[in-house]
Amino acid sequence: MCQFCGVDPAFAAFFENTQGVPQDPSVISTQPTPAKPNFFRLKPKLSNMASESKDLKESQLRSFQNSLSQNAQVITETDGKLYTDAIRRWSKCAIKPALAVIKPGTPEDVSKIILLAKSHKVHFTVKCGGHSPGGASSSDGGIVIDLGLMNSVTAKADEKTIIAGGGALWRDVSRVAAEYGLSCVSGSTSHVGVGGLILHGGYGYLAGEYGLAVDNLIAAQIVLADGSIVWASEEENSDLFFGIRGAGSRLGVAIKFVIRAHEQRKSIWGGPLSFPGFQYESIINALNTWYNQKDLKGAAELVLGKGVGGVAGITIMCFYNGTEEEALTNFAPLLQLRPTINATAEMPYWRINTLSEGKDVYTDDNIRFASGNLTPPLDPQHIRKLLDSLDHLYETVPSAAKTGCLTLCIQPDGILKKKRTDMAFCWRDANFDVGIGANWTDPAAESKVIEWQKEFQKLVSTGGDDYRLYGNHEDFRGGAREFGINYLKIIQLKKKYDPENLFRRV
Ligand SMILES: Cc1cc2nc3c(=O)[nH]c(=O)nc-3n(C[C@H](O)[C@H](O)[C@H](O)COP(=O)(O)OP(=O)(O)OC[C@H]3O[C@@H](n4cnc5c(N)ncnc54)[C@H](O)[C@@H]3O)c2cc1C
Repeated sequence: MCQFCGVDPAFAAFFENTQGVPQDPSVISTQPTPAKPNFFRLKPKLSNMASESKDLKESQLRSFQNSLSQNAQVITETDGKLYTDAIRRWSKCAIKPALAVIKPGTPEDVSKIILLAKSHKVHFTVKCGGHSPGGASSSDGGIVIDLGLMNSVTAKADEKTIIAGGGALWRDVSRVAAEYGLSCVSGSTSHVGVGGLILHGGYGYLAGEYGLAVDNLIAAQIVLADGSIVWASEEENSDLFFGIRGAGSRLGVAIKFVIRAHEQRKSIWGGPLSFPGFQYESIINALNTWYNQKDLKGAAELVLGKGVGGVAGITIMCFYNGTEEEALTNFAPLLQLRPTINATAEMPYWRINTLSEGKDVYTDDNIRFASGNLTPPLDPQHIRKLLDSLDHLYETVPSAAKTGCLTLCIQPDGILKKKRTDMAFCWRDANFDVGIGANWTDPAAESKVIEWQKEFQKLVSTGGDDYRLYGNHEDFRGGAREFGINYLKIIQLKKKYDPENLFRRV
């Protein structure tokens, strides 16, 4: 029975308790039905759960809104542009016609949405930044729990921690951290959500020094499948803490993150160096020389994409967490090659993560990700094959011109501070993460581009570990290949915390 639709005093009492902690049901059952809040206006057919699931009507959703906190929003197709905006995503491919997008204002709201969806057997998912290109944060006919209103970020400067709401973006985190001379390991794009990135890994420029974003997660507040609200940390619910650090979206809704921050100098040095593809041999050799200096303050993104003359070219996005003088020495092997574009400069840390962003957070392009990795040192001939494959795509599918591939080159020291079995995320070695972004504008080109992407992914993997898949770059379709040695443990955690598989399957 849906607790919002029938009279269920235990449920009402659960939310009367401001802590959000369930009381002993035997005690609750002796209490009179509370007069407020009024969850009980709705009277659906209770005889058939299957038909009930199709029966979550507009009017019921509107009444449900009355049970939520004041700021919470229930958005349906009848809301026109509000709805179109609410289901928009970074990649056009990820846009799905949700039955409703519900924006909770409080942890208790999140519990109620989960219980509503569960009672009506309606699919639901969670959205933070909306950057999953495969649509992991979208729902076709179900409910999207959009955490956009729960995005506050505060700092505890003396403890070097940042506390971010489950719907915050990394730019919110960077801005607050910068006010206190701090920074956090994030990805290299500022409008990506904290939720998706940190719960499943999180490679970024600072990872060589401080580990992945997920390695810097100290605690998280989670709403579980049964609606309860708990903390997960090394001290509290440590098994859940193990699981959410890599398999977060499979186990609950993270509504608050406590993240370790690091002292950050006022400026870093970085920016793009672009080269024509034919220079590949000297560039990759120089990149290997740069990498062999083993300087933890340096990082580089190797970007393969359409360049000058319409053919595949190479851009190196440089990063150095030190003075310009130190950076120029560190990056000398690449700077000496006389790039066609050199837009490097000193800048605050937060700015480097905004350099490749357009005006709009969302792209209106069809984009799909695939995951790969490369073992250093990079082989120039392997990179040449990747450039050739890209050239072939640009020639045969003109609307796929923005397709590219991005390899983050960082020292392994930060990542190796954790062991493979410390948390659900297990990939602990020197391999570089590779994100393959297939991008096309002509809908008719989709199958051709996806086919190409599969072949390209195989080609990339001949230069690395061909088993692993990074969830955040594979849209969480990797199964055992996402979790490696920890796979069975995650299945056990799933049985314990989400036995009905309400959250994403493993
Ligand atoms: C432009 C761009 C740049 C990127 N750069 C990097 C990078 O530098 N490094 C890197 O490692 N990755 C990078 N990625 C990949 C990125 O980490 C993933 O796409 C990530 O999942 C996006 O998180 P999100 O919150 O924005 O996405 P969403 O689509 O909102 O969420 C992704 C998944 O996480 C779940 N989820 C989100 N928040 C929560 C929450 N609070 N509780 C429970 N589940 C939640 C969603 O249900 C969904 O399954 C990039 C992606 C893009 C599009």
